[in-house]
Amino acid sequence: MEEIISRQRAFFNTHSTKELSFRLEQLEKLGHVLTTHEQQLNEAIFKDFKKSPIENYITELALLLKEIKDIKNNLHYWARKKRVATNLANFPAASYLYPEPLGVCLVIGAWNYPYQLSFAPVIAAIAAGNTVVLKPSELPSHTSSLMATLVKDHFDPAFFTVVEGGVEATTELLDQKFDKIFFTGSTKVGKIVYKAAAKNLTPVTLEMGGKSPAIIMKDAHLKMTVKRLIWAKFLNSGQTCIAPDYVMIEESIEEEFLKLAKEEILSAKYAFENDNYVQIINESNFDRLVGLLDPDKIYYGGKTDKDNRYIQPTLMFNVTFEDAVMQEEIFGPLLPVIVFDKLDHAIDKIRSLPKPLSCYIFTRNKQTERKLLKELSFGGGAINEALMHISNPHLPFGGVGNSGIGNYHGEAGFEAFSHYKSILKKPTWLELPLKYPPYSSSKFRWLKRLMKL
Ligand code: NAD
Repeated sequence: MEEIISRQRAFFNTHSTKELSFRLEQLEKLGHVLTTHEQQLNEAIFKDFKKSPIENYITELALLLKEIKDIKNNLHYWARKKRVATNLANFPAASYLYPEPLGVCLVIGAWNYPYQLSFAPVIAAIAAGNTVVLKPSELPSHTSSLMATLVKDHFDPAFFTVVEGGVEATTELLDQKFDKIFFTGSTKVGKIVYKAAAKNLTPVTLEMGGKSPAIIMKDAHLKMTVKRLIWAKFLNSGQTCIAPDYVMIEESIEEEFLKLAKEEILSAKYAFENDNYVQIINESNFDRLVGLLDPDKIYYGGKTDKDNRYIQPTLMFNVTFEDAVMQEEIFGPLLPVIVFDKLDHAIDKIRSLPKPLSCYIFTRNKQTERKLLKELSFGGGAINEALMHISNPHLPFGGVGNSGIGNYHGEAGFEAFSHYKSILKKPTWLELPLKYPPYSSSKFRWLKRLMKL
């Protein structure tokens, strides 16, 4: 590990990564690798958890290619020095912000979208002019090893390399001094990463999870709500950090919602026989999810197939916050539905829980929308939609509180891997005597006036 990092530090110190042409060339190369190896990427992810080529494209590769395209269009603007205003006390002068790369960066990925969650932070780190060590999740072993091979075949390890492995390898990496650590994963491991980073005062971005609610009001367009929500929940078999974890719904429309939700699951064929239905990543997650199923509370679904690690899309009703399914982030295809009578009660309950990564608000009432946005804190989300906010590169993506520290995607990704050096530039043709001793009461009066402006 030490050698990898010292080689990267030596390369960073050559200043090659600071050239925009170098960064763009590397990003172009990564885009080319992803495009020309699409079939291999599809095969590896299918072996890992039966993710289909179409879902691999729309939820992984397309996002990465779009991110590269946006950077190619905007990098010149993001990376140039920016002039800012200067206060009167410094007259005459000009003030600038100089974005500069942080240095050698560590990116630790999660398993649920293995390509996207590994390469998207890498793309941002490269755009900002850093070198990168990527540690993908070890759980999808085929994607992890393919990423390692592709990166080894196409990039200089002194600039970008992959270290494969699990807890042991990550712990060893975290013992090294990096200039930035970007972590995606659970809140539990996020705390371990934060602690390790603190030893060297390394800045971090922590992209974590939590229980993201979907709040459905009786004035919502219920059919559209169900369509969007069911897709968002059962995509990747619910193994999505921003999946709606549970539904909170006005009591009077619960029955209608459940009926429509079941119909939607059946008509869109979110089921075992669907070629696009993704497996649960491993046996321990399968067993954990089965443990959250309460047979008395299953409205629809609940069937499981241990040999193939499938769990049927499941709707749970009569659920309370005391049930097992409400004690942890579900991260699987179980959708608990909890009713409320008054919106304030629902808000109070959500506010008493750790701040979620996302929240989805389904209403056509502007006042309700404003109230929820004002009173609930969460990473990001959508109104009358779910999940899709992640696909807009103009919306910084990240959590708050237990769900994360920092943001990325688009310019926010560039900022996450940059330091903005503040520079005041003074000409030498004038120097006002006010700040220099000997002080006098008239100087003091002037200074007091000037420094407020
Ligand atoms: P995880 O925390 O178990 O693992 C994440 C990474 O940390 C992996 O690379 C793993 O090898 C490493 N790791 C695991 N245990 C470690 C330890 N003790 N010490 C050091 N490193 C360790 O998370 P996961 O199971 O891969 O992903 C699921 C979680 O990630 C969910 O909570 C989900 O919400 C969250 N997530 C968040 C986002 C986001 O963008 N905010 C995206 C995907 C997943």
